[in-house]
Amino acid sequence: MAKKGQTYFCEICRQKVVVTKAGFGVLVCCGQEMRSADAGGMMATWTAVHHKPVDGVKFHCNVCGQQIDVIVETTGILECCGQRMQRIGETSAK
Ligand SMILES: [Zn+2]
Ligand SMILES: [Zn+2]
Repeated sequence: MAKKGQTYFCEICRQKVVVTKAGFGVLVCCGQEMRSADAGGMMATWTAVHHKPVDGVKFHCNVCGQQIDVIVETTGILECCGQRMQRIGETSAK
């Protein structure tokens, strides 16, 4: 289960997100489970590069309430609990 503040990334499209509200669901991108960047391993260096969150791009899961901030946005489809995550906070007002 994801924990608040944990970083996850997709090995396929390299989308990267940070959990802002933990849920029980498993984060999925491109049809496979996203990996925790905090687990170390070969992606540790790449994930250590600090990116600023993409402005206003957040997603949440309607089922478990999990919420994430997108740090590296790609065209990969984010899913949680077997369904697409809902994009929120989409304000063009800046
Ligand atoms: Zn969920
Ligand atoms: Zn992906």
